[in-house]
Amino acid sequence: MSLRSWGNYPKINNRSFRFDGISTLKKIIENNNKLIPHGNGRSYGDSALSENIITVKPHDLFISFDDQQGIVHVQSGVLLSEILAALVPRGWFLKVTPGTKLITVGGAIASDVHGKNHHIAGCFSESVEMFNLMLPDGKIITCSKDENTELFKATCGGMGLTGVILDAKISLKKINSKFINQTTIKTRNLKETFEAFENNKNKTYSVAWIDCLAKGSELGRCLLMLGDFRDDGKLDYKTKKKLNIPFNFPSFALNTLSVKAFNWLYYGKVKETISKQKVDIDTFFYPLDSLSNWKRIYGENGFTQYQFILPKETSFEGLEKILKTIADSGKGSFLAVLKLYGKANENYLSFPMEGYSLALDFKIEKGLFELLEQLDKIVVHHGGRIYLAKDVRVSKIIFEQGYPQIDRFRALRKKYNMNEKFNSLQSQRVGI
Ligand SMILES: Cc1cc2nc3c(=O)[nH]c(=O)nc-3n(C[C@H](O)[C@H](O)[C@H](O)COP(=O)(O)OP(=O)(O)OC[C@H]3O[C@@H](n4cnc5c(N)ncnc54)[C@H](O)[C@@H]3O)c2cc1C
Repeated sequence: MSLRSWGNYPKINNRSFRFDGISTLKKIIENNNKLIPHGNGRSYGDSALSENIITVKPHDLFISFDDQQGIVHVQSGVLLSEILAALVPRGWFLKVTPGTKLITVGGAIASDVHGKNHHIAGCFSESVEMFNLMLPDGKIITCSKDENTELFKATCGGMGLTGVILDAKISLKKINSKFINQTTIKTRNLKETFEAFENNKNKTYSVAWIDCLAKGSELGRCLLMLGDFRDDGKLDYKTKKKLNIPFNFPSFALNTLSVKAFNWLYYGKVKETISKQKVDIDTFFYPLDSLSNWKRIYGENGFTQYQFILPKETSFEGLEKILKTIADSGKGSFLAVLKLYGKANENYLSFPMEGYSLALDFKIEKGLFELLEQLDKIVVHHGGRIYLAKDVRVSKIIFEQGYPQIDRFRALRKKYNMNEKFNSLQSQRVGI
């Protein structure tokens, strides 16, 4: 059966290869081209899709754990959820985690994922002590911030295009509770939303849900959630039971009216301008993981996530234009998440830069790509870029304008013959 990405689009035929050891993996690479590693398929678009797929998830052993330093050594198919299940009860949490814990360590490194604390803690690679990488010629190279740094900077955020990450050491942060003190701030427009972010940038975690169908004086209104871990010694962490959505929704189920009604209810549910809650790890960090197959509400044709980032100086103006364009188009998104980002790291293709990023889910339908092309132009005009882990359609020109280190990355791919072995649908489209 062919593998799909999280957005269930595009649907292409592919062959997948499993490996049970280093020598099998070497042979797979030697005998095939157009290969791409695949973790848990949580990337939305076509970054983990190709004719030939290397399935890494079964490569999932814990190798060691240093309880003094808080450093865990795992094979790259281990899921973040498995690290949390094993180590939260011992008082350790990930320094950086995305909005799902159902991704592999390899996928976290390859997308150099970020979370609700980028403004404080940076990307996932900031917590990577080292990893071993299999190159196209089968050689295994150890990479870290001090060793083979060029390969480290290319592989973190390199979308699987430098080889197969085999195992990694990840440093964790000490916690003393499975609970978060959450403060919710309700804002009335984009100006208030920006003020609320800026006034709270000392809070460890922050994320805002934007009502992207609101117009006029309400444009950019949001619920901003801020959080910090509590210190109450409660570490009995267990994953909650999931709610299942067992079938695809018909394509008419999700339309402007349903998104408007949802946004109205969600925003209207919160009465106070500022309110406080005590929530657990899964509720705060991974709300979507508790609904298995939630993506089925987007129907058979699949969906995509459009995530862009803008530099701080242009964020307000750019976001205002983008939100207006979306509201006028009538193509709403249930999920519209705004986050604040700190300084960029030196990795060649990592997405974050100092500024603000918005992520929006859209079902695949007529007219969508035309709208996204309009948004692309606003993004690059304001010095921004699109996140490859979510993308399925961006053009080579738009991609290149957003990633100024692309030529370095291309040169490194050539130097190690990576371009002859490792290619995804995405890398071919954007010419990496
Ligand atoms: C609900 C949800 C919320 C999300 N929230 C966020 C978020 O807040 N922040 C964020 O940054 N991302 C977020 N993401 C995106 C997700 O974190 C990334 O797409 C991640 O890379 C997926 O990891 P995966 O293991 O599923 O890898 P896949 O989707 O299978 O692959 C992703 C990329 O990693 C490469 N790769 C995978 N394994 C290896 C390996 N062993 N060696 C080399 N390359 C490899 C693939 O080739 C591909 O390019 C979210 C996704 C979902 C579904």
